[in-house]
Amino acid sequence: IVSGNPPRPGVNVTISSTPSTRPAALLEDLDRRHVLHPHERGHRSQRRVMVRGQGSTVWDASGREFLDALGGGIWVAQVGHGRQELADAAARQISELAHFTSFFEYGTDKSALLAERLTTLAPAGMDRVFFTCSGSEAVDTALKLARLHHHHRGEPDRNWIIARHYGYHGTTYGSGTATGIPNMQVAVGPNLPHVEKVMPPYPYRPEMYGGQGTTEFLLNELSETIERLGAGNIAAMIGEPVLGGGGVIAPPADYWPRVRELLRSHGILLIADEVITGYGRIGSWFDSAPRGMDADIITTAKGLTSGYVPMGAVLMREEIAASVAGGERDFFHGHTYSGHPVAAAVALANLDIIEKESLLARSLAISEWFRTGLAGAAELPSVGDVRVEGAMAGIELVADKATREPVTDTLALAVADELYETHGVITRNYGPTLVLSPPLVFERAEAERTTSAITEVLGRLDVASG
Ligand code: PLP
Repeated sequence: IVSGNPPRPGVNVTISSTPSTRPAALLEDLDRRHVLHPHERGHRSQRRVMVRGQGSTVWDASGREFLDALGGGIWVAQVGHGRQELADAAARQISELAHFTSFFEYGTDKSALLAERLTTLAPAGMDRVFFTCSGSEAVDTALKLARLHHHHRGEPDRNWIIARHYGYHGTTYGSGTATGIPNMQVAVGPNLPHVEKVMPPYPYRPEMYGGQGTTEFLLNELSETIERLGAGNIAAMIGEPVLGGGGVIAPPADYWPRVRELLRSHGILLIADEVITGYGRIGSWFDSAPRGMDADIITTAKGLTSGYVPMGAVLMREEIAASVAGGERDFFHGHTYSGHPVAAAVALANLDIIEKESLLARSLAISEWFRTGLAGAAELPSVGDVRVEGAMAGIELVADKATREPVTDTLALAVADELYETHGVITRNYGPTLVLSPPLVFERAEAERTTSAITEVLGRLDVASG
């Protein structure tokens, strides 16, 4: 047994040191015993150990093949799995210079080149970049930048952050407090102080807005919140252009432009969290500009490297960088691996692939395939709403189509499990909503396989419940 621990009763096999050649049952057992998973569902005993990927296909330790309709299972994998170009970029960089810090006056060729490249892809005015290792760190950085910016401008009381219910921004204390998904803040408090939540647009559930138009209600609520907290006490508002983890929910077209205008009139910054929507997910490099956000800070991660190595990037207007680190000032914030050269080299190669293979356009094609493929499912009694935004989709399941009563999370999870077990298609439920966010190299046949599997499983669900 190749392991630092003594052999255990019941685990009686000889295994090689190459993980992917170890028996599946043993790997699942090791995982169950020793890994505490992010968002672990303690009551679930099954383990799914993945060992290989190519394009939009992945294989588990038993050799079973799956279609990855959720981009590495978590809205990533823009360029698909198994890209030799990215492996080569990482290997080259590791042999040239595996790591050197970005702290103080140091940096590396790759982090400088990547920062410049991002500023050319980003909306106009985003001229500076801060690198992180994840989306949560990017969001924490953005919250600090907003507070620091105002402090150094001479408005130190501006430290409130406005975030939104249903928003997902990560799980560190800062990003977790800004997240508006129930349970995230339970029993881990005190959380980050001075974070206030407002409602997001949710066009399928107009009852939330008490008979007013969605944007009207939300603008009134935001105005009242600003008045109650005091405009001079608010640093920034954070929001995803399209809610991702909240269930793939796009706002009405006038929402972001009007929010932007209101915030600007009160000197409040706008942070666009593009950790999901960035790098082509919805047909453009960044989705905040087309939605009218005109953000001051943009947080990104995931698609920046297609998940091949961990990396996030915070893009900001020059005046924000200038106020937090201008003149004699030190910016006391950073991570050992900020601007990691291997991650930066992979990110550059990843952006090359997105460009060369026209994956922004492909995400719009995937959108059409999903729309067409899900048209039948939309008619089923258990489907309340089908929302397709670029290469992502949310299928909101309902117990009653007329009243729009949502299904339980347990039922939605059972649908995702059924897709996995009987069709080998990887999706996931976020609350009552089944979500798709495949690699942008998804092919038409793969989109069709996904949408017919969903239609078949949901059709059976109706038969079973009807
Ligand atoms: N922001 C958004 C919009 C996200 O969807 C996520 C993760 O899904 C995060 C931030 C957090 O990113 P990470 O999990 O890399 O910390």
